[in-house]
Amino acid sequence: MIDQQIKSVIRDIPDFPKPGIIFKDITPILKNPQVCDAITDAFIDQLKDIEIDVVAGVESRGFLFGLTLANRLGVPFIPVRKAGKLPYSVKQKAYELEYGTATIELHTDAFEPGQKVLVHDDLLATGGTVTATSELIKEMGGEVAGFCFVVGLSFLEGREKITPISDRVIVLAE
Ligand code: AMP
Repeated sequence: MIDQQIKSVIRDIPDFPKPGIIFKDITPILKNPQVCDAITDAFIDQLKDIEIDVVAGVESRGFLFGLTLANRLGVPFIPVRKAGKLPYSVKQKAYELEYGTATIELHTDAFEPGQKVLVHDDLLATGGTVTATSELIKEMGGEVAGFCFVVGLSFLEGREKITPISDRVIVLAE
């Protein structure tokens, strides 16, 4: 099963990047081409009933499978970046973090109004980042086709937070 395969390769790093956080390090997945392929195959299988025009990957680990997925689906990939990184004209969205705020940006020509955008990140924690991403997509005239993640931390209830935006939520390992 894909969830067991993922869980067997990712590793927990206690107290990173600060005390009390158990960081889910996905880099061992990237060293294993078979697991990478299995993850992509599982996403493609579970996404088959969802209409997708564009895949949006959230900086930075959302770029890894986001581009692969977009290529396999035969649709464009667009990067969702932290403020100040995208070179062309941008739309931005600020959102609350546990301490302070963060801002994400998309290029103004990332997608056409009415297009269905799949939002991808490596990990679903509180859901704050992908909620802000969804709000930005909607403000720019797009629709959220669904969400997909490699890993989910179910105790943080991110799934409950984002299901009202789209009930197409795929988490391969929870
Ligand atoms: P959130 O907005 O709370 O859902 O946080 C999601 C983002 O933070 C993702 O881009 C994750 O890569 C990162 N993240 C949050 N918590 C963790 C964790 N425990 N381990 C690894 N990445 C995390």
